[in-house]
Amino acid sequence: MNIKEKTDSIYKDLNISNEVLSFCNGIINDIQPRFTHIDNIAEYNQMKVIKAMQKNKVSEMHFEQACGYGYTDVGRDTLEAVYADVFHTEDALVRPQITCGTHALTIALSGNLRPGDEMIYISGKPYDTLEEVIGIRPSAGSLAEYGVAYGQVNLKEDGSFDYEGIKKAISDKTKLVAIQRSKGYATRPTLSVAQIGEAVRFVKSIRNGIIVMVDNCYGEFVDIIEPSDLGADMVAGSLIKNPGGGLAPIGGYIAGTKKCVENAAYRLTTPGLGKEVGASLGVNKSFFQGLFLAPTVTAGALKGAVFAANVYERLGFKVVPDSKEERHDIIQAVELGTPLGVIEFCKGIQAAAPVDSHVEPEPWAMPGYDSDVIMAAGAFVSGASIELSADAPIRPPYAVYFQGGLTWYHAKLGIMKSLQKLVDAGIVKTGNLC
Ligand SMILES: *Cc1c(COP(=O)(O)O)cnc(C)c1O
Repeated sequence: MNIKEKTDSIYKDLNISNEVLSFCNGIINDIQPRFTHIDNIAEYNQMKVIKAMQKNKVSEMHFEQACGYGYTDVGRDTLEAVYADVFHTEDALVRPQITCGTHALTIALSGNLRPGDEMIYISGKPYDTLEEVIGIRPSAGSLAEYGVAYGQVNLKEDGSFDYEGIKKAISDKTKLVAIQRSKGYATRPTLSVAQIGEAVRFVKSIRNGIIVMVDNCYGEFVDIIEPSDLGADMVAGSLIKNPGGGLAPIGGYIAGTKKCVENAAYRLTTPGLGKEVGASLGVNKSFFQGLFLAPTVTAGALKGAVFAANVYERLGFKVVPDSKEERHDIIQAVELGTPLGVIEFCKGIQAAAPVDSHVEPEPWAMPGYDSDVIMAAGAFVSGASIELSADAPIRPPYAVYFQGGLTWYHAKLGIMKSLQKLVDAGIVKTGNLC
């Protein structure tokens, strides 16, 4: 057997039928130009990361374990200098003590806002977890409790910024404007870096001193520029999404102006101590190596998302973004239309995993959600959504949100498995696979 025959045969061992395999391979043929574009972006970003690592003379000693206060943690300091160079900012805070993306955004906000200040989200309702941080949903310790006012300007019907609304909303008290790049789990389109850059310019034209913070989660390395290249004062995100490259076991980052990063550091540790303390405890090597891999890992996840959009759109399902749209994050939504469709899709993603492939996900009443939720993830790093994962609330329109894949081939298997489950359940007819 040649390699192609061998590969077909191993897919058969993994319970992918000939019909599903040839349908999917046909689609991959059709979307080669998209893949080439994604590879070109990854190549640029790979060089950007290597250039930053070389400039900062990353060395073996930077991988050594620091403990205690971490006053002489040169690995940590070098990593932060590398991040600052990748994002083209004055400084960065990249720490295992930042427990997740929400935490990074929280210290970026609370470190830079004071009682009496006002912050405004100009990209509509923020990601769910931020509601309690800000106090949109009353919560102990929220910014609202500390006297920080909140305003919100929704995006327009077509997903673009409402410039008139923004102009009206900004007052003398407005200290910070926040923009969320990714749609997260909302139905609006994701914002491009160019669109964000235009909004930053607009806000600064009203008053230059306003701090603009961008929630960069899921957006890193999808484009060759980041919001910080177009004037954002701070970008923040999670290391168990794109920039950790699948290797970071924990962590978050903030890259931005010296002042903003310093203020955030005073919140992460203490006023006065700031960036000086916080030992990296041996995770530095995974942070460096993860960042090194992040451009190609993100590219693999993007290919998986484009592939999924094309497979399911061809089968008549609504997909967001659609099969042709340009991508600004790694999330793909597929509207399956029925609870069974959502469940079978998630079972397929789980069955493709390198870890926990033998377990079946089931919908359950997760705290904080008003309907049952199903989640599929077989990850090396618990909860890492740069790894292949899917989740869905069991409610109309029965859409599943799918993201990640540390390699394109794994994402491909995941989508083929999801389709196989839908075929096996009779939801997709074999006759339609052509
Ligand atoms: C994931 C995400 C967050 C929160 O990150 P966690 O690591 O889950 O706390 C915030 N904003 C957006 C847009 C996200 O996608």
